[in-house]
Amino acid sequence: MIDRYGRDIRYLRLSVTELCNLRCRYCMPADGVCKKAHDEMLTEDEMICAVRAAASLGITKLRITGGEPLVKKNIVSICSRASEVPGIREICLTTNGTRLPELALPLRHAGVRRVNISLDTLDAEKYRRITRRGELTQAVDGIHAALYAGFEKIKLNAVLIGGFNDDEIPELAELTRLYPLDVRFIELMPMVEGAGFGPEAYIPCTAVLDRLPELEALPPDGGVAKLYRLPGAKGSVGLISPVSAHFCAACNRIRLTADGRLKPCLHSGDEVSLKGLDYDAMVETLRLAILSKPAWHGELDRNHMSRAGRGMNQIGG
Ligand code: SAM
Ligand code: SF4
Repeated sequence: MIDRYGRDIRYLRLSVTELCNLRCRYCMPADGVCKKAHDEMLTEDEMICAVRAAASLGITKLRITGGEPLVKKNIVSICSRASEVPGIREICLTTNGTRLPELALPLRHAGVRRVNISLDTLDAEKYRRITRRGELTQAVDGIHAALYAGFEKIKLNAVLIGGFNDDEIPELAELTRLYPLDVRFIELMPMVEGAGFGPEAYIPCTAVLDRLPELEALPPDGGVAKLYRLPGAKGSVGLISPVSAHFCAACNRIRLTADGRLKPCLHSGDEVSLKGLDYDAMVETLRLAILSKPAWHGELDRNHMSRAGRGMNQIGG
């Protein structure tokens, strides 16, 4: 469906849970989130109904996210049912990877075609520090499980944090030479008050080009990343710059949170609930929400916090 600014909205990001087994500093408070009552959250049937309603309005791409989607008990069933919704051509999933060793194959068989795995560092101690509890080996095992399961595309997402992982830009990019996967550097968005990041943490993605002048530009693939390749590499290196060069004019996404809130824009507090609605009411609510999608997300930088009103774990990235 075309919105008021001529953007063709084709992409739904569905957060299936707010819960997570990690506590990344840029995403969640240290003590996690209060578990909401079961009846406040979308049921599996409501999620599938929302996907059907979205598909009826022209959504073709679905990304399952969270929180950590792989801590959701019925995640394989959700993916399998969503993949059967007419009109949905592509199901992708974003995960921290730690539960992929047991779930990569079932998810692939359930119709998930692509996975994005978050990996900010290759250093075990730094991984523990940024995730406040994670074990790097679990995420790395998850990446190997994803490679084995034969997803059509595997991307590693690294949030670029000055003074934390900018020294690892070459090592992270080098993974695209060693393995058939893509690496995406994402600018740190100011989401969590008191996350403990100083001004030096907010660096533009162009830092990657400064560190790796040998990167060769690739043609755009229709996504939000600017694409490059290391000479001879199997995969691409992508730069995603929501802060230094926002891509709102080309934004084709809407988001649905696990408690049923539809968010036309990631960084706006405007939300409308789908919880408890039947199919027809969902279609109409989705239609109005798409028409209310703002032209851009407003000021966003280290001095201007996101106005999303929720943590990333609740929105899904
Ligand atoms: N748990 C899954 C994961 O970590 O991939 C999926 C949910 S997570 C909220 C989705 C994506 O958002 C991850 O790639 C994560 O790195 C990114 N993200 C979270 N907070 C962010 C922030 N403040 N700035 C930039 N990216 C962020
Ligand atoms: Fe969990 Fe993903 Fe947020 Fe990290 S980024 S705390 S893994 S939801």
